[in-house]
Amino acid sequence: MDRLSDAAVEQFIAVRRDIHRHPELAFNERRTAALVAAQLGAWGYAVTTGLGGTGVVGQLKRGTSTRTLGLRADMDALPIAEATGAAWASCTHGMMHACGHDGHTAMLLAAAQHLATQGDFDGTLNLIFQPAEEGGGGALKMMDDGLFERFPCDAIFAMHNMPGYPQGQLVFRSGPTMASSDYATVTLHGHGGHGAMPHKATDVVVAAASLIMALQTVVSRHVDPMQPAVVTVGAVHAGEANNVIPAEARLEISVRALDPQVRRSMEQRIRELVQFQAQSHGVRAELDWRPGYAVLVNDAQQTARALAVAQRHFPAQQINPQGPMLTGSEDFAFMLERVPGSYLFIGNGTGQEPGACMVHNPAYDFNDHNIATGSAYWIALVGELLSPTHP
Ligand SMILES: [Zn+2]
Ligand SMILES: [Zn+2]
Repeated sequence: MDRLSDAAVEQFIAVRRDIHRHPELAFNERRTAALVAAQLGAWGYAVTTGLGGTGVVGQLKRGTSTRTLGLRADMDALPIAEATGAAWASCTHGMMHACGHDGHTAMLLAAAQHLATQGDFDGTLNLIFQPAEEGGGGALKMMDDGLFERFPCDAIFAMHNMPGYPQGQLVFRSGPTMASSDYATVTLHGHGGHGAMPHKATDVVVAAASLIMALQTVVSRHVDPMQPAVVTVGAVHAGEANNVIPAEARLEISVRALDPQVRRSMEQRIRELVQFQAQSHGVRAELDWRPGYAVLVNDAQQTARALAVAQRHFPAQQINPQGPMLTGSEDFAFMLERVPGSYLFIGNGTGQEPGACMVHNPAYDFNDHNIATGSAYWIALVGELLSPTHP
């Protein structure tokens, strides 16, 4: 099988640890982007920088085929103080690669070097290094800057590490895979007053409490029981003193769904509940609805192709052909709304293995064994989807 030499594996583990030492938050991935651009350029890629802020695209054309393929990695870190104690721990306090995007970038760079020096393919390869996956929607920003007009892709693929699966396990899934995430702020306005004279006030605290309970019926009574959905009230703010009825209450809500239709109907239901609950308590409600990431839907045909490649290059026990849906979200969903493709997971470790700690945790670290496994998968995918012998 076509994979990195031991020396190349060591080289890209060092790259991964270098990126890990220098984490950068969303849209500030300047050092990381410069490192990516310099390496791609040195290997002969046509490099475009500054797409969607700090995004980078490396393009490599071989042969005469008009086929195009996009592979995407994310580059941003998180505002978390690292507690791994690793020799390559973050040099910037309060910031770390706690989601493994350092590893995603290194795996794709490792594949990029191998494909440039030894890759036998026919077509155009677009390697997309995006900023700001963690809430900033860097994927959309790159698309707003003309990503797919300037670098058309017949299909796109991305890979995310996943603690809780054995290291190197390749987990595919056809159809809806990651949730949409929308956010709402509800502000209730009433008339405050003395806690001893509630009849002279309109109490936003009671209205907020009632609304919180009513919101629990969105998933339990409104959404099809066969459909995963989440409504979380993550913050409640009202009042200061035990004997004062406040004039204002604020709720922060997050909403997730794994079906675009369910997502729309939940928004509608929540809007109704907010309005009518407020009305029934004689208070006024303001709702600020902020759409976040879309439902990530893996294309059936492209997922079947990606899975078939894995099955030809990796042992069966290393492959999960249809993993579970997840309620996390991911802005690669926006790219998949434009271009058919598939998003897969690579196991980061389980049980006592290193890499078993969940992402977004101060003790998390990317499992460096995946530099070899992940890059081998990318190399195999390019070799088959842009095969020089099959048009
Ligand atoms: Zn993350
Ligand atoms: Zn991530």
